[in-house]
Amino acid sequence: MFAVKPYRRREYVVTYRGRKIANAEADRLEARGSRYMFEINSRWTIDGSSRWNRARYVNHSCRPNVEAIERRGGVIVYVARKRIRPDEEITVDYGKDYFAAFITKSRCQCDKCRERRAGLQSRYRARVQRALSRKKAMRKRSGIVGAKPAAKPRPRRKTKSKNKR
Ligand SMILES: [Zn+2]
Repeated sequence: MFAVKPYRRREYVVTYRGRKIANAEADRLEARGSRYMFEINSRWTIDGSSRWNRARYVNHSCRPNVEAIERRGGVIVYVARKRIRPDEEITVDYGKDYFAAFITKSRCQCDKCRERRAGLQSRYRARVQRALSRKKAMRKRSGIVGAKPAAKPRPRRKTKSKNKR
């Protein structure tokens, strides 16, 4: 879901709408594949799976721009954690339990996790490159040593072909 207007910090964004059900029923529905259960407390959950619950279209982020707060009567609303610009994606932290069960860090599509994975990847690539050039350097050095132990480098003269490795 994307913002169509700017939001100030703490401003109301959307309500998490749905039927209030007991946690045991929510567990049963979740076991059958429901993904929009919002647990309010140790007894009650909002089943947000209906289409008119616009809040269900808000994706997870580990660096979210809205947060869920509970208003009187167990009403859950998302409010801006910071200023949100129009066209910015609205994201919320789904919480540890949901994250562990359905997303996990290696699959999370939020900007923060993509950046983290890209960083890991480029660090890995750099490590491989360093290892490769170390190997090359060692091969070169041992090649020179094998060719003529006491020889000094002789510029402008090619090594004899029989000494090449
Ligand atoms: Zn993430």
